[in-house]
Amino acid sequence: MKRLSVDERLARNKFESNDETPHIIIDRQECRNCVHKACIYSCPAERYQLNADEELIFDHVGCLECGNCRLVCEKLRESKPGYKWNYPVKGGGVIFRQG
Ligand code: SF4
Ligand code: SF4
Repeated sequence: MKRLSVDERLARNKFESNDETPHIIIDRQECRNCVHKACIYSCPAERYQLNADEELIFDHVGCLECGNCRLVCEKLRESKPGYKWNYPVKGGGVIFRQG
């Protein structure tokens, strides 16, 4: 059986994204100073990645709302300036099609 990529598996869900008020916000400039960048390794949906310049990029669309990044990132957990983690507003976010 063919092994699906993360993006292919995410495409089986539906996402109601709110680009005006994303449920997770990070400060990419401040993230440059983060030594562990644990968000990258903890996100099952691979929403946190490093670009070619080794800068963190994040896309809230596709987030599975598992909360792992909030657990491993002290700035998200403590709502430091420039950082926010909330569940999407009612009716938004991920809609699981297969339970
Ligand atoms: S763990 Fe938090 S502070 Fe560190 S790179 Fe990720 S989002 Fe930024
Ligand atoms: S809540 Fe989970 S799926 Fe969403 S960005 Fe954080 S680790 Fe990734």
